[in-house]
Amino acid sequence: MQVHHKLLIIIYPLIYLKNRLMEFFYPQLKNQIRVLLYHDIPPDKYEYFSFQLSEIKKQWNFISPDEFTSHMSGKTPLKGKNLLLTFDDGFISNKLVAESILKSFGIKAIFFVLPNFINISNSSLARKYVADYIYPSMNIEEVPINWINMNWDDLQELIRAGHTIGAHTMSHTKLSTIIDVGELQKEIAESAEILEQKLGIPIRHFAFPFGNIESFSPEALKVAKGHFGLIYSGLRGKNIPTVSKYAIRRDSVTPKDHPFLIASFLNGAADFQYSRSVNILDSWANTNAEFRPKTN
Ligand SMILES: [Zn+2]
Repeated sequence: MQVHHKLLIIIYPLIYLKNRLMEFFYPQLKNQIRVLLYHDIPPDKYEYFSFQLSEIKKQWNFISPDEFTSHMSGKTPLKGKNLLLTFDDGFISNKLVAESILKSFGIKAIFFVLPNFINISNSSLARKYVADYIYPSMNIEEVPINWINMNWDDLQELIRAGHTIGAHTMSHTKLSTIIDVGELQKEIAESAEILEQKLGIPIRHFAFPFGNIESFSPEALKVAKGHFGLIYSGLRGKNIPTVSKYAIRRDSVTPKDHPFLIASFLNGAADFQYSRSVNILDSWANTNAEFRPKTN
């Protein structure tokens, strides 16, 4: 575990007290909207994942993708602490937890998927795909055996159960490395078109791969704006009313995380580390300013 994560667990009771005190003096702070981001949920973590959700539920109200969309589009203001659940990459475990755990909590989530990954029909090719595109820092031997993809039928079942499908590019490419607009269109717009054709539903939500500002660009955002109503990052923060629907913040967590760590993130204890990146994303979302983040 990272040292600062350990620290966030230890100091969580203080963070909790500080925030309750702040809310006492500034009641508007009681109204919050955040988005949680999970990836795979391994089978031996189903129980813990369920425990995490029950702990989160003590303080947060899970909202549906439709309620979130309506709020971000300025149609319905939300009161209290509201949380949207999202899953990236389209691992088969997502469907399994949706059918069992999310169903029992009555939670509707967004699943961001990749047409090139969905099309794979063999588990060793799926694991090779993960190592080549989704987690490029991993060797194929390191990819867990359960990391295989949902197929088109799995996605249809999620839709029938009331969940939402979003696009996550065709292949899971780092969009900041693509300069050519035609290539960007292919990765971004085509992913939505294929999902729409295969699933017969409109695709309004887009999450860019890797989620950090260094993996995105103003050009890619401009292309994505032309096709989607809402664009999600992997940058932590509150989705307060002034946040653009093209610069949505999400808190990345794992099914191993201690509930105090998740609660610390949801209380904004790590937001300051993302302020520079969030400011850059906001400037792109609001003006499409033509500048690139420093890559290092
Ligand atoms: Zn991803």
